[in-house]
Amino acid sequence: MFCEFCNGQKITKKTKKQHWFKGQLYIIENVDALICNECGERYYHATVLDKIDKMINNKHDVKAYMNVEVIDFFPFINKNSQIGAYVNV
Ligand SMILES: [Zn+2]
Repeated sequence: MFCEFCNGQKITKKTKKQHWFKGQLYIIENVDALICNECGERYYHATVLDKIDKMINNKHDVKAYMNVEVIDFFPFINKNSQIGAYVNV
């Protein structure tokens, strides 16, 4: 299977996923994903995503809490109008 964006090779890896559920952000560790070794695009199986939703919805252990900064990118774009190449993260 090749990457839909760059045709790179996809490799199976466990990853840390940012996962939105009912308007809240969760960081889920050790999620199986196919990751493109060229552009870094991540592919998750639908059953894995369903399992994560179910896990969050049911009683689960919380490993840690973290604070995240929410920043508006808009003012930055106006000051620095040149936008470089798009990069996957
Ligand atoms: Zn790719």
